[in-house]
Amino acid sequence: MPRDLRTPQMLTDGFGRQVNYLRLSVTDRCDLRCTYCMAERMTFLPKRELLSIEELAKLVNAFIDLGVRKVRLTGGEPLVRHGIMSLIEALGREVTSGRLDELTLTTNGTQLSRFASVLADNGVRRINVSLDTIDPEKFAEITRRGRLGQVLKGIEAARAVGLQVKINTMALRGFNDAEIPDLVDWALERGCDVSFIEVMPMGEVRSDDRLGQFWPLGEVRTMLEQRLILRDTSFSTGGPAQYCDVEGTNQRIGFITPMSNNFCAGCNRVRVNCRGELFTCLGREGSRDLRPALRESASVLDVQDAIRAVLMCKPKGHNFDYGAGEVAGAVSRGMNHTGG
Ligand code: SAM
Ligand code: SF4
Repeated sequence: MPRDLRTPQMLTDGFGRQVNYLRLSVTDRCDLRCTYCMAERMTFLPKRELLSIEELAKLVNAFIDLGVRKVRLTGGEPLVRHGIMSLIEALGREVTSGRLDELTLTTNGTQLSRFASVLADNGVRRINVSLDTIDPEKFAEITRRGRLGQVLKGIEAARAVGLQVKINTMALRGFNDAEIPDLVDWALERGCDVSFIEVMPMGEVRSDDRLGQFWPLGEVRTMLEQRLILRDTSFSTGGPAQYCDVEGTNQRIGFITPMSNNFCAGCNRVRVNCRGELFTCLGREGSRDLRPALRESASVLDVQDAIRAVLMCKPKGHNFDYGAGEVAGAVSRGMNHTGG
């Protein structure tokens, strides 16, 4: 029977997991240099290697036809990609038409003052802003650039146009341990949920730094419970965070525990980067280049066939492990290359 492009299909991997969530990294470039993510001196992809905005839109449409319902733009910093608003407008139309349930992004917040209202006008309802500290000196240390004021203004601009802002914070032992309660209070006062994330061994960062930074989130939760009442909830935004309601507020705190509590069995996502590489797993080296199918074939069916084939090679999960005092299963690709 011929395949009808307008009939949404179901994308499943070789383990029967349904994939309905696309994370698209639109650039590997960034205006910050977070120490756990990038080196100070980076070699970025030559611009000629990047998919154009039109190719990115075509790619997302191929995924939507395969049943993807949620798209998150990420990077690098998605809001420094030239022409990004044209892509947001194109994808916003897919939200309006009902072909997408959600269009969202993960950003460092530096460009939000410029772009928040355009995001809100184009179907974006919620965004994640990564923020590991609200101390200006520590922010300059961790990002190697500073610009905390610009980020905080960006968060206010986003809230002012009605975007729901979730703060994503890396739990970094020896860096923001003492500050976590203040950061949580700061976010809750602004009506923002907070998700904590465990640091993963990705990219060329010295392994003893990784081990030193790793802070299991069970310990973070115990620390927070000394002053907040947290109640487990089944609430989900479709990602791996385990959420708790914070008693006395309308807010939640989420815990994303790739290292201390593996959640790969429920993986529902696929990652593609700005070069058109589809990664079978955040924590594995496997990928397939979708550019030939995107550029050389007039038919979107060829792109879809390539996507389906590579998803059958999706591994069961990552192999990251900090056990025995060593870093195992690290991947050489940085988070900015894969898309966080
Ligand atoms: N620049 C944007 C930002 O910072 O939100 C989007 C890209 S960034 C790579 C996405 C997320 O990945 C950020 O929340 C960042 O903290 C996280 N991240 C970066 N390196 C990581 C690592 N090694 N382990 C865990 N999360 C990491
Ligand atoms: Fe840039 Fe985000 Fe990586 Fe920080 S975490 S260097 S903001 S891409």
